[in-house]
Amino acid sequence: MRKATTIVNLDGLFEDQFLASSPPIYQTATFDLGDDPSSARYDYTRSCNPTRDILQHQVARLEKGKYGFAFTTGMAAINALTGILKPGEHIIASDDLYGGTERLLNQRLLEYRGITTTYVDFTKIDKFKSAFLPNTRLVIFETPSNPLQKIANIGIVSEITHAKNAYVALDNSFMSPFLQQPLDFGVDVVIHSATKYLSGHADASGGVLVTNNQELSEKIAFIQNAEGSAISPFESWLILRGLKTLKIRVIEQEKNAQSIIEFLKTEKLIKNIYYPTLATHPNAKTHLKQASGGGGIICVRTGDHIITQQIVKNLELFKYSVSFGSINSTVNIPAKTSHLSRSTEGRESIQDLIRFSIGIEDVQDLIDDLKSTFAQIRQI
Ligand SMILES: *Cc1c(COP(=O)(O)O)cnc(C)c1O
Repeated sequence: MRKATTIVNLDGLFEDQFLASSPPIYQTATFDLGDDPSSARYDYTRSCNPTRDILQHQVARLEKGKYGFAFTTGMAAINALTGILKPGEHIIASDDLYGGTERLLNQRLLEYRGITTTYVDFTKIDKFKSAFLPNTRLVIFETPSNPLQKIANIGIVSEITHAKNAYVALDNSFMSPFLQQPLDFGVDVVIHSATKYLSGHADASGGVLVTNNQELSEKIAFIQNAEGSAISPFESWLILRGLKTLKIRVIEQEKNAQSIIEFLKTEKLIKNIYYPTLATHPNAKTHLKQASGGGGIICVRTGDHIITQQIVKNLELFKYSVSFGSINSTVNIPAKTSHLSRSTEGRESIQDLIRFSIGIEDVQDLIDDLKSTFAQIRQI
């Protein structure tokens, strides 16, 4: 099956006594063990639940992976992944990373678990290579990165990491499996905040890890059960429902994003535009070798954090909101929200940055909203 068919097709992922077309929500904590507990397929929802299984298998299929694991949130998924490390081990992470991931690495792993992280710019491969230490166990990165949309070469990063006997994980939340399938380029683990494009409606939280590596899958399965961080049956179902429209959402969001970029290029208040497939992006070619589109997120700079705040405050259709990937357009100042836990220096360098997440509204209404906002600001 091709991607668009797989997205709406759950054949083989569940059996139902009534042949339900839509997956049932198995809202139960326990299962009847029958005569022989050791042969029961399901026993306790923390360990295993049929609705969760469907979600895990479906996201794994979309990412071309064998094993999928779904957690309460994206952060719970990333935390579970870091559970494979022991005190004294080392992580290499990209220097432009979701703020919550940085907070986990700095304020939990470093302070409480004795795991150190080196941050490097993954577009500078020599710097990346020289960041490896004898105890480096995990590499974690984003491409495009959040929020600066830096592009790393997934194949090269994976190859170098494997030569150093470490695991490499890529957070694919920005792209979704519809636009980028990183397992094809050699990463060991794909991470998703399912709260974003997988769910697509800002109505559910979740996180997913996908891998083809059996040894890793056994470790992650053990952690998911031992730590009790798996997603609930109802949230699994919500994400499964949202997932079915992934293709049409992402295509429409990208189409709208392209029109908005053309408009933003003509606006003098906008100084820089960051988008992975822009001709002016230094690594657009690399991006297009590993992804099939630029996605629905546009970041811009105004050069002035006051103007940035005025724009965000004045917009009406674009709701000021954390997160991204919803059918509704949202706007965000990363330095004030999603990346608040960055170091002061890290935040100052992105103070004037605006991140737009483009929805599926009529693009002319979105452009009109931007136009009238810019006109109002010129009058202030
Ligand atoms: C939002 C986000 C996360 C965290 O996911 P939650 O579901 O909010 O816990 C991780 N990585 C990226 C890139 C994100 O955007």
